[in-house]
Amino acid sequence: MTDEELKQFKASLSITAVAQALGIEVVRGKFRCFCPQRHVHGDRTPSVSISEERGMFRCWVCDDIRGDVISLVQQYRGCSFLEALDWLKETYSFLVPGKGGRSELPKASSTTLMPNVNAPWPDAREAVLAQKLAEPKPVKEVVTEDERKKVVLSFLKMLSPVDGTPAAAYLARRRIFKPVWDRMLLRAITDYDGLNRKLKEMYSMEVLQYVGLFNDKGNLRYYKHPLIFPYLDSQKRASHFQARALERSTEPKELHLRGTVPFPYNVSALNQKMGWIYLCEGVVDTLTMLQQNIDAVGIPGVRSFKADWVPLFKNKNVVLCLDHDEAGRKGMEYLQEVFGNAGIRTIILGDGLENLPAGLKDGQDVNEWFGGRK
Ligand SMILES: [Zn+2]
Repeated sequence: MTDEELKQFKASLSITAVAQALGIEVVRGKFRCFCPQRHVHGDRTPSVSISEERGMFRCWVCDDIRGDVISLVQQYRGCSFLEALDWLKETYSFLVPGKGGRSELPKASSTTLMPNVNAPWPDAREAVLAQKLAEPKPVKEVVTEDERKKVVLSFLKMLSPVDGTPAAAYLARRRIFKPVWDRMLLRAITDYDGLNRKLKEMYSMEVLQYVGLFNDKGNLRYYKHPLIFPYLDSQKRASHFQARALERSTEPKELHLRGTVPFPYNVSALNQKMGWIYLCEGVVDTLTMLQQNIDAVGIPGVRSFKADWVPLFKNKNVVLCLDHDEAGRKGMEYLQEVFGNAGIRTIILGDGLENLPAGLKDGQDVNEWFGGRK
């Protein structure tokens, strides 16, 4: 494994899932210290915090109980770095380049799109995204995970439906219409100042910043990102969302709530029933598919695809719909490998799909392909 492959391998692991795979009981992002004798009451109230977005853990009493996903395995199993890495490669063999059941990969894809195990990850856009997702959270847990979710939910409830707002025009230009807005509970910030004030009245600044709704300057983050895509779970509740800029000049175009993306966008489409699912990059492409009555889920980017999401795709054949640019193709090769090693069939949109009119041209995305305008 090269340094770059190691980085990619680590990035695709959920440290919480790894802790659980080791047999550690994780409650609300915390677990009991490996050195309970150093703690009062044998660390009955867990002192080790996990930062899922940074892939790190840390004990608040013991200075030496800390590190990344590999040190977690090392410290729990009392083994060397290489032994820990071997254990992870064994446990997550479907993520390891060039290992596992390549025979599962579909014949439909052309040879040029077969996984190239030596492919590096020179994708700057993904790297920037990964960095954004890894934005450090204040170290102290200000509110519990349950309370955090409640704050996010109450924020979403204060927003308006997109109807009649600039966000609606934006979506319509991309040929995404009201049935989809309603089904996915799309929301818009119409009165930024009012919302900013109201939230400050309801919650302390410490809580608002901890949850990630407010920036360091003490204001709501979404001044230029008024279109809100809630990540609905199977009960249509959301504890995560993505905010979208409407003006072309705004960078970044999308803002994620601080913290981990808990599951793919429109996760309820992953219903464990036999069928096809289209895997898109970004919410807009996912909505484009839904508008065409195609079952689709979205991921923010390949780097944010978590290994523990693979079982969600059980019984599905996955159509990969990433952009057909250099980065998208590399990403699809990677996902083909991850899914293929888990025995899940993948094909690439436009490759070997007789029922669709034409493949994506280089640099084109799903939305443009269906006639959306930028
Ligand atoms: Zn400790």
